[in-house]
Amino acid sequence: MIQIKNMKKSYGKNDVVLSVSSIHVNAGERIALTGPSGSGKSTLLHMIGGLVEPTEGEVIVNDIAVYNQSMTARDAFRMENIGYIFQDFHLLPSLTARENVQLVLNGKDAPISEWFERVGLQQKEHAYPHELSRGQQQRVAFIRALIHRPAIVLADEPTGSLDVKTANTMMELLVQICEEEKLTLLAVTHDEQLAEKFPKRWTMYELNQCLAEEI
Ligand code: ADP
Ligand code: MG
Repeated sequence: MIQIKNMKKSYGKNDVVLSVSSIHVNAGERIALTGPSGSGKSTLLHMIGGLVEPTEGEVIVNDIAVYNQSMTARDAFRMENIGYIFQDFHLLPSLTARENVQLVLNGKDAPISEWFERVGLQQKEHAYPHELSRGQQQRVAFIRALIHRPAIVLADEPTGSLDVKTANTMMELLVQICEEEKLTLLAVTHDEQLAEKFPKRWTMYELNQCLAEEI
């Protein structure tokens, strides 16, 4: 599903921030990725998601070498295969919850109301983001990322701006939905307790050789 080989990333002329010799993720795996701030977690997700090109090496997702495609093909690939969830939700404030979800469907049919019910937001489809709590906003962001059943869900500290109790509930919900829908999930968190909700855990110390060299 996801394969990375001998990949390095530096920004501009700066030092290498991420050096990964090998990653292999099978379809349907749910993995938590932990590591300190600045250890390259977001960079790694961006590279898998087709947003940031590695300086060296290959990223293969669903048998496609992500960065060997044209930009247009890569955009289409991302829309089709990747669901991205951010720490601060990224909902458009002028659209209702339902409209935020519809935006990514591009006119395609999907059981939107069923999804709102599934995450416990049946009353909130027509609410605007400012009328929702932070936990509720993140539920809308979950629906938006998952509704087209992307092969891979990438979540970058998806509970980082929530209180502890809400964060726990939300991480459980995310893992549970990905299990039910058989979606591959790679979620970044710096909270070890949240990571324990995942069947598999990686640390940036294991993955990023730059960190190993610093010790
Ligand atoms: P994490 O998500 O683990 O906090 P990041 O992937 O955001 O780590 O950052 C890893 C390193 O790359 C940091 O040293 C950061 O300063 C650097 N970095 C990240 N994005 C950029 C960028 N767009 N330009 C230059 N340096 C960056
Ligand atoms: Mg980050």
